[in-house]
Amino acid sequence: MKSHDVIVVGNGLAGAALSYELAKSGCSVLLMDDGNYDSGTRYSYGGIGWWAGTTDLTETLFNEGMTRHRELPDELGADTQLRELDLLLTVNKGANVEQLIESYQVFRTPPRFVSAAEACDIEPQLNADVIEGAFTIRHGHVNPMGLVTAYNQAFRRLGGLHNMTPVQGLVRVGDKVTGVLTEAQAYPAKTVIVAAGAYSRQLVQAAGLTVPLFFTHAEIIETPPLAVEVRSLIMPAANSRFEKEAEAAEQSSLWQTADTEIMPAVLEAGVIQFADKTARIGQISRFHTAYMPTADASTSGQALQDAIAHQVPALKDVAGSWRHCLVTFTQDGLPLLGPIPGVSGLHLFSGFTGPFALVPPVAQRYARHLAGKPESLADKMLDQMLVDRFAVSA
Ligand SMILES: Cc1cc2nc3c(=O)[nH]c(=O)nc-3n(C[C@H](O)[C@H](O)[C@H](O)COP(=O)(O)OP(=O)(O)OC[C@H]3O[C@@H](n4cnc5c(N)ncnc54)[C@H](O)[C@@H]3O)c2cc1C
Repeated sequence: MKSHDVIVVGNGLAGAALSYELAKSGCSVLLMDDGNYDSGTRYSYGGIGWWAGTTDLTETLFNEGMTRHRELPDELGADTQLRELDLLLTVNKGANVEQLIESYQVFRTPPRFVSAAEACDIEPQLNADVIEGAFTIRHGHVNPMGLVTAYNQAFRRLGGLHNMTPVQGLVRVGDKVTGVLTEAQAYPAKTVIVAAGAYSRQLVQAAGLTVPLFFTHAEIIETPPLAVEVRSLIMPAANSRFEKEAEAAEQSSLWQTADTEIMPAVLEAGVIQFADKTARIGQISRFHTAYMPTADASTSGQALQDAIAHQVPALKDVAGSWRHCLVTFTQDGLPLLGPIPGVSGLHLFSGFTGPFALVPPVAQRYARHLAGKPESLADKMLDQMLVDRFAVSA
């Protein structure tokens, strides 16, 4: 059995980008995916918040991310449907606008607040009667699976191998991980990189290690092509999800218990329409330790429909199917990458918040680093995202 330099587990955005960048850096790579398309990437809006940097690190990476997105269609030889659109972060009637404006100053390039009438000029489908106004800024956008497919095709052209087989476990010999296990066989590699989204936690745990990677259950409605046209990406301005994620990450003992709700769900009414006129209406996020869906699809679907119809009446009772996926997060909002302490040969590449902005540049930097490219060996940006910034239990 041929041993690879690297096995990457998971073909969401993280695994697809990293496997391509590693192959481009000269590594022999096997990409393994279970073919379960209910991934965070599959149901993503695909927004690229290039403007949302709050620190030197995120500002630099988000800018690099936008540059990388502009390079990728030519480099990968495929259309990723990259475009710019208006982001509208709606402010509900009665909300404290001044307080929200103040809170948006945290961003290095804050979106500007516009009145309800101006917001409706930008997006005529919005209901001016139910909002005070909206924050708006130009936002990047790609087709999520279009980008993954583009990375995969270019990866295979570079000689990368793509195996559609679920990984059932890691081969651990003492303090060394030497490969992965599928139902049929073991695949050896010098380094295994787990980029399996929320399932990364489960896979690493099966090898006897716990990493501080958490997840929400995200629920959306996916529609067929619609006659109605929604031009912008609409989401709520008041967003408690990120605070709740940080709070949930502190409940480390609860995360060790199966089938436990960590805290109540959050509903953020939002919508994006793609080039083929299909739309994704989101999003409910549930904090629950089970890996299977815990919600009643029809109740959740109705709640999503009602919430979006309030803001975008043309979407009332629109046809669509309820979908569920898991989305990862970390305690400090930065990804978890690099060697997992306690064993050798095992790395993590997961936990991205805002992955469409962050993954392309971080995958490129990380692949160069792993391949030993001299300019990347002392990458201070990567240092800030390493797994070992947190205590990891063995
Ligand atoms: C409604 C919604 C809107 C979003 N909007 C945005 C947005 O606008 N911008 C943004 O940046 N992000 C957004 N996100 C978040 C984001 O898109 C995803 O969380 C992200 O793409 C995660 O990528 P990933 O590769 O880390 O994980 P995933 O996409 O979850 O991929 C993990 C992959 O690993 C595979 N896998 C798992 N276990 C195994 C195994 N044992 N063996 C083999 N393969 C395995 C899975 O099948 C999957 O293909 C949104 C998410 C949702 C749900």
